[in-house]
Amino acid sequence: MAIAEESAAIGLQGLRKSFGEVRAVDGIELDVAEGEFFSLLGPSGSGKTTVLRLVAGFETPSGGTIRLAGEDVTRRAPFERDVTTVFQDYALFPHMNVEQNVGYGLKVRGVPRREQAERVRAALASVRLEDFGGRRPGQLSGGQRQRVALARALVVRPRVLLLDEPLGALDLKLREQMQVELKELQREVGITFVLVTHDQTEALVLSDRVAVMNAGRVEQVGTPRELYEGPASAFVASFVGTSNTLTGSAAELLVGKPGTFGVRPEKIRLLDPGAEHDRVDHSEVRGTVADAVYLGDSTRVVVDTDAGVRFVVVRQNTGPDDDAADAPAPPGARVLLRWHRRHNVPLHQPS
Ligand code: ADP
Ligand code: MG
Repeated sequence: MAIAEESAAIGLQGLRKSFGEVRAVDGIELDVAEGEFFSLLGPSGSGKTTVLRLVAGFETPSGGTIRLAGEDVTRRAPFERDVTTVFQDYALFPHMNVEQNVGYGLKVRGVPRREQAERVRAALASVRLEDFGGRRPGQLSGGQRQRVALARALVVRPRVLLLDEPLGALDLKLREQMQVELKELQREVGITFVLVTHDQTEALVLSDRVAVMNAGRVEQVGTPRELYEGPASAFVASFVGTSNTLTGSAAELLVGKPGTFGVRPEKIRLLDPGAEHDRVDHSEVRGTVADAVYLGDSTRVVVDTDAGVRFVVVRQNTGPDDDAADAPAPPGARVLLRWHRRHNVPLHQPS
């Protein structure tokens, strides 16, 4: 085994899990580094929760191995694994107050009473809930309940914290605030976090690396920038951000070679249709604006190109100094689309 694998916080080899006919997890190879903030990103039903439950030991794999800090834990019970899970619904005990909820894991582990109190206080401080120890979950806001769930998980000092859509129940503003807090918390405690989410923004904001999942498999693993700038498949290109896909004759015409290529909407400029050609370093195509949606900081322009492909272009609204070369693009207008050839990203089609 490679040294990198031995020192990995989590190592999954050939991991599989079937429920009857359903292959929920269909052969996953993955290494998560010690101290990493790692996310599993994918649409609903892609197998994210099942991977997390396999790592935690709540499910038994149909095949493959699970290593934690180099040790094979595939056949071990959940309590014999140095991981804690935060569930989407938080699963707090409603009849216990915040202190009792957070201290529960220490109590069942037989930690001395005095140490329990100290660790509960420290855990509540780390999520800024020092003054809420006496309240019941029913007397807290959604964001506060979420922080209690985090404190309860962290108080037992696991090596790995597993989080299943932990912010899914919160409204957008609070979710964005909690994302910042979660990232800060992870830096503070320095342990490995594995987050499950279907929200690409959340995964990109929080993670050191992301595994994009589709139908029980990992399509690509990379840093947020790697996934966005160099998506390996059409699925990743469309799931992480928006992408225009060129294939068949459109690819031959615009890229100059056969294959499938993705072009991000913000890489494309909308120019006057009469603008001089510049095809050495650039791909170009003319088209007619079908729709233009003003979004405040940007405008999203849909163009039906003469190559027969519908394009989405995102243009920043930079204000009165907008580049004079940029053509106005109301619906019905003829425009020239131009982007640098390096933004034609080759995509693999699903096998
Ligand atoms: P995700 O978390 O990405 O939404 P899941 O891991 O929950 O996906 O589910 C993956 C697939 O496995 C889905 O098709 C789901 O219906 C199925 N599945 C998950 N758990 C069970 C179960 N306990 N019994 C039967 N099918 C299940
Ligand atoms: Mg899930």
